[in-house]
Amino acid sequence: MPTKQKCPICRSPEAVTERPANYRYEHIGLSNVILVGREVAITSCRKCGHVTTGINNELQLLDVLGLNIVLSAPGLKGEELRYLRTMFDLTQADLAKAMGLPRRETIAEWEAKSRIFASPAAEVAPRLVLLGLFKTHIFESEFCQLTTNHRRLYDNFTHSIVDRIDDLLQTSETRPHYSARRVSKNKEWIAESVPG
Ligand SMILES: [Zn+2]
Repeated sequence: MPTKQKCPICRSPEAVTERPANYRYEHIGLSNVILVGREVAITSCRKCGHVTTGINNELQLLDVLGLNIVLSAPGLKGEELRYLRTMFDLTQADLAKAMGLPRRETIAEWEAKSRIFASPAAEVAPRLVLLGLFKTHIFESEFCQLTTNHRRLYDNFTHSIVDRIDDLLQTSETRPHYSARRVSKNKEWIAESVPG
């Protein structure tokens, strides 16, 4: 139900606030986000035409939408990649470098696509980079608005894979030698790295 109030610009008492049941939240560049639950207040003035839109805890909403993208099923869209990159405050060149891509233009091309990757397998490595960037730029930011519950969603999704990736990314000068032997009364094989 619309409620009357004063216009913040012309001070006319003819401003009306409405809280729509569904609000298409597209000015952030995502085409498929609908806000429900009357969290959006749209105040429009009949006299001067000024319109203001206020959203409850909008900063957290922005973080949650980013979290939702990095945790979503394969099928990353160009607009989602652009949303994340902007959220991370990275240029296309920065993101290309983070992903190990030689050309900045590749990011521009990806951002122009509806679905970027032809297969889930092709999406795995870029998604891991995005998950890592999300942790660095959002969770570790002093402006992060996400809660313990959001962090738990991230942790549940990532703890098994990201821990493995960290292992895979460890580099050493020389590959160690391994010795293998059978131990204990069960005669299980174990392999151990041998220094030197
Ligand atoms: Zn007005």
